[in-house]
Amino acid sequence: MSIFAELEPAPYDPIFHLTDLFKQDNDPRKVNLGVGVYQDDNGKVPLLKSVEIVQKQMADDPDPWTYLPLKGWEPFNEAAQKLVFGADSEPVLSGRVATIQSLSGTGALLLGADFYHHQVNRDAGMIASDPTWSNHHSLFRYAGYQTGSYRYYDATSHGIDVEGMLADIRAAEPGTVVLLHACCHNPTGYDLSPDQWGPLIDVLADRRLMPFVDLAYEGFSRGLEEDAGMARAFAEAGLSFFVASSFSKNMAMYGGRTGAIHAVCADADEAFRVKNHLARTVRSLYSNAPFQGATIAATILNDPQLRATWEDEVTTMRERIARMRVLLLRALEAEGVDDMGFITRQAGMFSLSGLTRQEMIRLRKEFHVYGLDSGRLCMAALNTRNVEYVASAIAAVHK
Ligand code: PMP
Repeated sequence: MSIFAELEPAPYDPIFHLTDLFKQDNDPRKVNLGVGVYQDDNGKVPLLKSVEIVQKQMADDPDPWTYLPLKGWEPFNEAAQKLVFGADSEPVLSGRVATIQSLSGTGALLLGADFYHHQVNRDAGMIASDPTWSNHHSLFRYAGYQTGSYRYYDATSHGIDVEGMLADIRAAEPGTVVLLHACCHNPTGYDLSPDQWGPLIDVLADRRLMPFVDLAYEGFSRGLEEDAGMARAFAEAGLSFFVASSFSKNMAMYGGRTGAIHAVCADADEAFRVKNHLARTVRSLYSNAPFQGATIAATILNDPQLRATWEDEVTTMRERIARMRVLLLRALEAEGVDDMGFITRQAGMFSLSGLTRQEMIRLRKEFHVYGLDSGRLCMAALNTRNVEYVASAIAAVHK
């Protein structure tokens, strides 16, 4: 008998499985609002001009495929760190942020989780918002944590239960990792406002918790600077914490696996030690990061002209998503749906639509509109040609 004969089938990943079902659907009206990938008005994942220019330069003058150092490519690390904290900010200038290149945001979360568990606090658990990106729990459990939730989404008021959130975080054991979405909360689309960061910081500091800021969508809510605001406020308040940053979304380099983990420390000496431990973690997990995406990102961030082009492109993507929210809401109202005004109060790629699992299944089966069973819809996959169809489909299942 084969060694694998008794193995149970692995559960499907809810998001990637939906994409497989979508690909098999031959209906010409089909729309995939499942996976979190930005598409332009033609329904295509864009190749950003800024990225294309550097890609062409690299093709014209190719480098050998050598190994990057364990810490990744330093010019990339420096540029990624400045993007999050600000080039002239105190944490950057004082050298108290340890930054290591990662396999995008997912890899950054994994590096932080693994390092913290093995080198700092083996007993610590992790809590994340209810609900959250499903991979947060899987990834931390895989790294050896018990995971739990804090209250977040308030379905009745279509907003955040801030009091419940703070109470649950306050109840966590000291040392617990508190996963926070910096902006564009996935899946709800509801973010804390800057005036709510202060009370959160007080609880995190009082209870000696370990914040982990997931910054997967920098630039997609209010702007590149503004979206880094939570991380900057935490640094200013003197917290020790991690940030997971990613260029999957804001450079549309999903397959480039380009990101960084930043550990904000008390001083440069501590950051030096943390950085070396993170590098050892990289060595044990996968040895070193890929160079192409990091070269592209660093070249764009460090060249004023390319950077200006890229910043415009981020603005275009952000504004297009916001416009799609407005168009969807208008089209829904034209169809007689009058209880979804919250769509334009949410930010980022996703909307937790409030549609029930039954309604989501009908959307998929009868109208070929694919969203998650939880009701999450990707606003960044709407365009001027499919938005009215999507609205009529929602109206048909929701009335
Ligand atoms: N965090 C959140 C909240 C996400 O939604 C995603 C992607 N969907 C990620 C992290 C990771 O994406 P990537 O690894 O491509 O950066």
